[in-house]
This record gives sequence, C-alpha cells and structure tokens, in this order.
Amino acid sequence: MKFSEIAGHQSAIDSLRATADAGKIPHAILISGISGIGKMRLARAFAQYIHCKNHVNGDSCGVCPSCLQHQNFNNPDLHFSYPILKKESKNPISTDFINQWKEMLSDWSYMPPEKWNEILQAGNSQPAIYVSESEHIIVKSALSSYQENYKIFIIWLPEKLRPEAANKLLKVVEEPFDDTIFILVSNDDSKILPTIYSRTQRYNLHPLSEEEIINHLEKNRNISGQTAGNAARIAEGSMGKAEEIACHPEELVEFSDLFKEIMRMAYSLKADRLKAISELTAAMGREKLQRFLAYCSRMIRENFIYNLKVSSLSLMTAEEEIFSQRFSPFIHEGNVEALSEEIGRAARDIERNANAKIVMFDLMLLISQWVRKPKPNPLPINQS
Ligand SMILES: [Zn+2]
Repeated sequence: MKFSEIAGHQSAIDSLRATADAGKIPHAILISGISGIGKMRLARAFAQYIHCKNHVNGDSCGVCPSCLQHQNFNNPDLHFSYPILKKESKNPISTDFINQWKEMLSDWSYMPPEKWNEILQAGNSQPAIYVSESEHIIVKSALSSYQENYKIFIIWLPEKLRPEAANKLLKVVEEPFDDTIFILVSNDDSKILPTIYSRTQRYNLHPLSEEEIINHLEKNRNISGQTAGNAARIAEGSMGKAEEIACHPEELVEFSDLFKEIMRMAYSLKADRLKAISELTAAMGREKLQRFLAYCSRMIRENFIYNLKVSSLSLMTAEEEIFSQRFSPFIHEGNVEALSEEIGRAARDIERNANAKIVMFDLMLLISQWVRKPKPNPLPINQS
C-alpha cells in the first residue's frame, strides 16, 4: 500500500510522512475514526513508507524487496494483531488466523468488521484480542528486527483487547524498545484503556466525501455511474459501506421495494400481508436480514430528516426520494424514536439468533402501531 493509493486524509499523510522524514516517529500512534474510511490502509502505507529505502516523490517506491514484502503481507518486521476466536487453542494468537487475515486485507482493505466476522465464521461469538496475543507481542518486540530499522506492530481494533490483554500490553507501549513502533487502528477509541490511549500520538480521520468514494469505486472496483453515485450518497462517508452497497446493487432495489411494501401494509394494517412479509424477510438468513434492518433504520431516519426540507442533509438515492415525497409526513417527532428503537431491538434479537419469523412479525405489528400515530399538534401558544 502506498500513500498514493489512499483516498483523502492528506493532512494525516503529510504529518506522518514528516515524522518519518525527520527521524522522529512516535513510538505509539493511534489512528481512529468511523469504520470504513481507510484507517488500516493509512497504517499499512505508513509502515511501508518507514521500511522503504527508496522513497520516490514522498512515497514508498512499491518495487524494492521491502515494499514487495509489505504488499504480500509477509515483511518479517511488520506484525499484525487483530481480534480472533478462541476455537481450538486455549491461548490463541492472531497468526493462528493468518490466512483469513490475508484474505481480509487483500479483498476488504476498508476493513468492515462484519466482513471479518463472516470470514472468521464467528457466528454468535465476539472476536477479541486475548492476553496470549499481548504476551506474543511482548516477546516479539524484545527480539531484534530482521532487516529493517524498525519493528512495526499494527493492532487492529485495540478496543477489542480483553482487559487483562490491554493491561499486559501497557508496559511495552509505555516503555517501548527504541526500534519499536505501535500503530493502533481503532473504530471506537472511547473504549481503549485510558492509560494506553494517553500514551499515543493521535490521528482522528474524517468520513470520506462522496467524490472520494466515487473515484475509488471507479478506479478499484470498476463500478461507476448511478450504482457508484447511489452507494456514495448513502454510505455516510464510509468506503466499506459504499463497497458493500455497490457490490450488491440489486439488494438496494430489493430492500427499497420491501420497505415501501411494509410501510404501506403497516399503515393499512393488513396483518396477513405483514405475516407473509415477515416470513419472506426471515428467510433471507441472518446476515442479509441484518443489512435489511439497517436499511429500514436508515430510511426511517432519512424520512424524518426529509421533512426538514434541507437537501444537503438528505442521504437518499433519487429513487428513494420519490417515495419520501409522500411518505415522509408519516414519520415525525411522535414516532421516529420509537420506530428506530424497535428496528434496533429487532436487529439485536436477530444477532442473538432469536427466531427470525417471530421477531419480524412482532416488528411489523409494532411498525403498524407507530406509523399510524398522528403527528402531535404543536403546543398551544400561551395567550395571556
Ligand atoms: Zn520501497
């Protein structure tokens, strides 16, 4: 990964490059921001830049032995730690899952955590970084580097460090060896152990612009036109989300049709039809149903916002907006919160493997109840 392959984040790139050029690289760096904006790509590009000895135009060369190793994920002085499952081993370490990890880095470099769970076949388990991994890091950081000036440890999702693992790691992050650099890549830095957090030099990355997303989809995924535009518009600045949407454009149409149908049937309280829809959605399987519920949640929020008539706030495709012109008045301050909550609750139940048919039918009935609530009248003005 070279800096030139990063979409956006120019000031973070400039600042990191300057630390390397001046020989003043911080020993612990935290790159944080929402999921899917390229934090891991930046961490990887920086690591490659540090190790490359033939910088070209402020970037790594991409062709020296070290760069080639980086691009194949096998530079002996670059170590990755990431959340894993406790399957066969009592003391699992990240490299037990190295093949899955390489698949993730090469196919999903914007690192959507759901994809990682899918690749790990995590099911209902929550991947974590265990104390055995921290011990492994400590041992490796004490060894001298193989060929480079620096050993670099990239830790993906430090918020997933088990408390005992975080405590164990604290010592090497506080007092690292001179030739050791830690790069923490976090989707939620509020959950990092404060003592580790306070030791880091922090880079908070912003969501990407629609233009940056469209450019990337065209260049790297060969997706353009309306599909790219739609994905960029509704991805809320996350390339991970945009890739997911753009790779399943048919899903967007399917979800949109289903959402409209549910809202119509819920409003007219057609229970038999709602029952049929709940069976249809339950048959999607858990992953897809989760995506559909996320879609519904977004549409509720967007329709509420649509009432404000501020087009810059709208994150809908043109086709979705057509439906909203008539539907949005039915989503108002009297029901928006309840609807969002019920959809969120259904998503959590599905995640916990509850019976999808029952969860979805209950949700349909609750949606009927809330969507038919009249918009509350404004409070009367005191006329005294
Ligand atoms: Zn190079």
